[in-house]
Amino acid sequence: GSGRLAEQLTEAIEKAGLTGTVRVKRTSCHGFCENGPIVHIKPEGVFYTRVQPEDAKEIVDEHLVKGKIIDRLTFQEPTSGIHYPHFQEIPFYAGQTRLLLANCGNIDPEQIGDYVAAGGYHSLVKVLQGLPPEQVIEEIQQSGLRGRGGAGFPTGRKWASARKAEGTRKFIICNADEGDPGAFMDRSVLEGDPHAVLEGMLIAGYAVGAAMGYIYCRAEYPLAIRRLKTAIQQAREYGLLGSNILNSGFDFDIILKEGAGAFVCGEGTALQASIEGNRGMPRVKPPRSTEKGLWNQPTVLNNVETLANVPLIIRLGAEEYKKIGTEGSPGTKIFALSGAVTNSGLVEVPMGVPLRDIIFGTGGGIRGGKEFKAVQLGGPSGGCLTRQHLDLPVDFDSLSSAGATIGSGGMVVMDEETCMVDVARFFLAFTQAESCGKCTPCREGTKRMLEILERMCKGSATLEDLDNLERLCRVVKNTSLCGLGQACPNPVLSTLKYFREEYLAHIVDKR
Ligand code: SF4
Repeated sequence: GSGRLAEQLTEAIEKAGLTGTVRVKRTSCHGFCENGPIVHIKPEGVFYTRVQPEDAKEIVDEHLVKGKIIDRLTFQEPTSGIHYPHFQEIPFYAGQTRLLLANCGNIDPEQIGDYVAAGGYHSLVKVLQGLPPEQVIEEIQQSGLRGRGGAGFPTGRKWASARKAEGTRKFIICNADEGDPGAFMDRSVLEGDPHAVLEGMLIAGYAVGAAMGYIYCRAEYPLAIRRLKTAIQQAREYGLLGSNILNSGFDFDIILKEGAGAFVCGEGTALQASIEGNRGMPRVKPPRSTEKGLWNQPTVLNNVETLANVPLIIRLGAEEYKKIGTEGSPGTKIFALSGAVTNSGLVEVPMGVPLRDIIFGTGGGIRGGKEFKAVQLGGPSGGCLTRQHLDLPVDFDSLSSAGATIGSGGMVVMDEETCMVDVARFFLAFTQAESCGKCTPCREGTKRMLEILERMCKGSATLEDLDNLERLCRVVKNTSLCGLGQACPNPVLSTLKYFREEYLAHIVDKR
């Protein structure tokens, strides 16, 4: 309803004779999904939530003309009943450090001028006017930036090996094929701040010595695709893409490639096969993409959020950037918080923040006053954490030592009423359907595992089924070709680890 709301606001502003004094600006998502449509009145920062088109006249007459804040439209905290009129006071935002999301909800993503006015492309200018490529790579290495797609590989190291690798051409690929159920971080960045991703790609291209970049974005993200197309066109018009960018002698252009929605195409080698026009299937590694990637040429593949960090690092400098987050995981991380939590939405916090702060602080706790049971991190490749992990710092190393993974940032919260066997079945049904079928352990193993889980959910499984399920988890994990198969047993393994009694409760012969 926000489109109609914007029209109604514009009309009411005209009628009140405020045209020229007050302007309605359409932005992207503010991240507070539960409470849209949102009207943010600036500069005073009054934040109206769940606004309807019929509220437009009252906002203009009462707020803009008489200067009165309309209480009923301000955010009301469900548990305490307190109203929070201003953006910064709302608990959902108060605990966040919005650096990558700073522009989301604040600029018009279809206007390059808005991005430039907010400091955009300044990092590119800084790089092109005075930093040799090696120094850019050094800065990224010093910053400690780790890939936000899930694996957490050091970005600077990846860039350095692609720069060193021999090839007639080099490529930068932005992996925008976000496909985990419960993940919408990259989509929001692409829709809300597409130029930040282009700027990150340009800087990566300059550092690595690439003249061509691809954005591989799933076709199920039509708004992101539309905004990327607009952003690419505007960047070309402004001389920020193409030949001799800003008279620096650096050439770089970007092609947008729409993926057809296969989850496996988020895997680097499958994604590259798909760009090349082949069926999107993973291949054996090595060689690594940095040596032989797209069309057998050195290729850097980074995800959306990783690339959006790059202009920020150049702007702040590695030393300042490293002050955010933890020593082993500097910077912030965006999470898509959803499920049984009171405030679902997009959350950006410094790495190392305890899980409890995200779920009970920013997220406002469990909806309906129910008990927290578990949280699934990292989607179908990740695992669940329980009450005992609530004080765990959320960063790459702490989570991996707890046997979980940060994944790309999906965070699905579950309450006391959730059946964990059903959760495992849900994620496995997803990966089974998405298995590309190239290797036997994943193709056959996921099918057999799913059959067992379905029998369990129907109440007809046996103890032998449980033994077989555990054995299959080990085999599929250890012998599958790519990350999809290697990680797909994780939801089963982690729920088995922490909620074994629930599995046993589903079994008929409890001898
Ligand atoms: Fe395909 Fe699964 Fe094998 Fe990966 S692990 S190559 S998705 S069959």
